[in-house]
Amino acid sequence: MYRLRFHGRGGQGARVASKVLGTAAFLDGYYAQDFPLYGAERRGAPVAASTRISEEPIMERGVIPEPDIVIVMDETLLQDPLTMPVSGLKQGGIVLINTAHSPAEAKAEYKITAQVLTLDITKIGLDMLGMPILSTLAGGVAARIVGLSEESLKDAVKKVLSEIITDRKLLDKNVAAALYCFNAITPAKIEIKLKTIGTTKKKSTVISLPFEHAAVSSPAINATGNTPLRMTGNWRVFRPVWNYDSCTRCMICVARCPDGCILVNEDDYPYTDYDNCKGCLICIEECPTNSLGKVREVHA
Ligand code: SF4
Ligand code: SF4
Repeated sequence: MYRLRFHGRGGQGARVASKVLGTAAFLDGYYAQDFPLYGAERRGAPVAASTRISEEPIMERGVIPEPDIVIVMDETLLQDPLTMPVSGLKQGGIVLINTAHSPAEAKAEYKITAQVLTLDITKIGLDMLGMPILSTLAGGVAARIVGLSEESLKDAVKKVLSEIITDRKLLDKNVAAALYCFNAITPAKIEIKLKTIGTTKKKSTVISLPFEHAAVSSPAINATGNTPLRMTGNWRVFRPVWNYDSCTRCMICVARCPDGCILVNEDDYPYTDYDNCKGCLICIEECPTNSLGKVREVHA
């Protein structure tokens, strides 16, 4: 059995990525399970999703504490002590990181000892879909890592997305982006074999419910008034930037920022607190004079 965990941020598509993978595995003739685990239920908050793939009926349930493969859809999560995406990774397992950096750079940066693969999935999403929604793309790389077929991936993306969106062109772009990601990585050497359960062990009818460590799920909110302590600035794909030449100081952006992190300087111009701006870009949409632009963040 393969056990995979996807780690992303609310809005990136970790749940759909796990579903695309599970559906592709099912279409390839395997048993599959896929399910999300939400934390703060908030855009940008850490989200985990899991997929189990097996040649035998899957009796396990619950979160996967010891995955064979981890897909990190947002590399800033690797620096989040409450999320710890690679926790519990099995010996011989693989980590795929969405980053502009090479595997060697990412290994050194995040002190990961396991086998690391990297791909700038965000760039592919921006180039091919025009937005940083990475569900089908992450599903594509995961399908390649576990050795599923291109045809099943294609059908899975169509099936899963047709339940969510009606835009045919966007669906076709997602199929193309998923296949691009599928072919963009070199298949990794996985030491875990698919036929682990049922061939080497006696079959069990007992459903295993492993203890769910908070650290492998999502950060808990344990105290009131702790929002200012949680720096959400590392959640951004883009940062908003101001052009004061055309800004009329109407303060609409200040009022519309959902995080209340746009402040006003001594000259009465707005500016954001980048420690807490989560990069939703609502301020850009709301500005009547187009005085706000966006610049992509590249982490690490
Ligand atoms: S992108 Fe703009 S609206 Fe969104 S959190 Fe940052 S400053 Fe606020
Ligand atoms: S909404 Fe636009 S014009 Fe108004 S204060 Fe903000 S940046 Fe300036």
